[in-house]
Amino acid sequence: MKMLVAFLSAGALLTGCVSADVLFSSPTMKAKGPAPAPPEPRLDTVHQSPPKLERRDYDRDKTVVSLTFDDGNASQHEAVKILDEIELEGTFYVNSSVLDSPGYFSRAQLDAMANTGHEIAGHGVQHRNLSDLEPVETVRQICMDRKNLSNWGYQVTSFAFPEAGSNPAIEQAVADCGYNSARGLGGIESVTGCEGCGYAESFDPKNIWHTLAPAMVDADWTVEDMQNLVLNAEENGGGWIQITFHHLCPSSCNEISVQTEDFAQFVSWLKDREQKTGTVVRTVDEVVGGPIRPIVDEPELPANTEGNLVVNSGFSEQPRGDDFSRCWQAAGYGKNNGHARVEPKATNDSDGVRLEITNYRDGDFKFLQRLDLGECATQIIPGERYEMKATYSATTTAQFVLYLRDPQGDWLYWTASDWLAPTDAAKEAVWVAPAIPEGFTGLSFGLSLFSEGILHADDVEMSVYSD
Ligand SMILES: [Zn+2]
Repeated sequence: MKMLVAFLSAGALLTGCVSADVLFSSPTMKAKGPAPAPPEPRLDTVHQSPPKLERRDYDRDKTVVSLTFDDGNASQHEAVKILDEIELEGTFYVNSSVLDSPGYFSRAQLDAMANTGHEIAGHGVQHRNLSDLEPVETVRQICMDRKNLSNWGYQVTSFAFPEAGSNPAIEQAVADCGYNSARGLGGIESVTGCEGCGYAESFDPKNIWHTLAPAMVDADWTVEDMQNLVLNAEENGGGWIQITFHHLCPSSCNEISVQTEDFAQFVSWLKDREQKTGTVVRTVDEVVGGPIRPIVDEPELPANTEGNLVVNSGFSEQPRGDDFSRCWQAAGYGKNNGHARVEPKATNDSDGVRLEITNYRDGDFKFLQRLDLGECATQIIPGERYEMKATYSATTTAQFVLYLRDPQGDWLYWTASDWLAPTDAAKEAVWVAPAIPEGFTGLSFGLSLFSEGILHADDVEMSVYSD
C-alpha cells in the first residue's frame, strides 16, 4: 500500500486551484515519473549549422521579419514543417529544463531544426518571470540555460524574457551570461495596441538588451493582422519586425495559439514579398550579428550545512509569482481540487500552511519548497542524509515528499516518507530521508495529501542529519 501511495505522490506538479489542463501549460511544471535514477551524461551533438551570414545582408530601408517562437511548445513543430518546406528559418526561444517533456520539443527535434538553419535561443532554464526573482537566481536562470543549450551543441546568442519580465539589472544579466541580444514584447504598434509606438524596431536598436517587438500573436489575430505588421513597416521606412508565436492550433489550441493554416498562409505570403518588395525573413541572430561568445557558468551555490536549511520556514514573507508564500509553491496532479494558503497558527501569531483537498478522484496535492535553481530549494551534498520536521494536524493521512534537482536544473520526484496518521492535536513529524544519490544538486520537500481532508503545518525544518 505504501508503494502505491509513493507512486501517487509522484508526477506532474501543478500550481493554484485551477484545472490540470490549464496548469500543464506552464513550462515550469512538468510531469515526471517516480524513477529516481541519477541522470546519465548525455552525448553532445555537434550540429552542422550553416555558416553565420554576414550581419545585415540587406539594405537599411528594407523590412526584415524575424519569426520567433517562445517556450519550446511541441505544437510549434507544425510551424517548423511549414517553414522548412518554403525554406524560411525561425528563432526558437526554449526553456532547457522542459525539453523532452510531454508537450515540449524533444532534443532530437531541436537537433533537426538546428541542422536546417533554425536558431535555438534561450528563454531561461525554467519559465520564471525574472522580475519575481532574487538577482542571483535571475543570473542562474539565464546563464545555466545558455550553458545547457550550448553544451548540447547549439549556437546560442539570442534571449527572450519569459513573460516579458525585465528591468535594467535583468538586461545586464543577459549581457553578462554571453548573449548578444534580448527580445521584449511591446513597443511596436499592432492590432493588440501600442498606438503611435512606431511600426518597426531599428536595425541598430536603442537597447539591444531589450529589443522592441509587437505584442505576441494571439488567437484573435487574423492573417491580415499579421500581414499588416509587415505592410505598415514597409510603408513607413522599413525596419525590423519580430513576430512572436506560442502555440499552433489544432495541435494545441488556447488563447495564445495561431491557426496552423493561417500561419501557413501568412508565411507563404511573406516568402513572396522577397521577390515583390525585398522584404526578407531572417533569424534574430542574423539581424543582430556578432560572435558566439564563450559559455558563462552560473554563480556557484555552496551547500549550507548548519541549522534550518529552509528559506521562509515561517511562511511570513509575501508571495512572488506563483508562490503562495515566498519560496513555497502548491503542486499536485490527478483529478482533485487542491488549495494551499498561508493561515495564522492558532497557538501563536506566526503563520503556517493550510492545505485542503476536495472532490478527490485520484492523484495528490501538496506544498513544496519552490522547485528552482537555489533561491528557495535547498542546495545539497550527495551522500548526506537530511532530516525533515514539521508540526502538523490533519483530518486525513499525509506524507513528506521529496524532489531532486539535477545539474541542468531539471527536477525529478525522488521519494516519500511513511504515512503520517491523522491527528486533531498538533504534533511533530520527523523523517530522515535516505542518503542523497550522486548527481543531484538540490532538494525540495513538502507535505502531500492524497485523499479529501485538511492539513495544517508549521515550524517546518530541514537539516543535515548526523546519527
Ligand atoms: Zn515564454
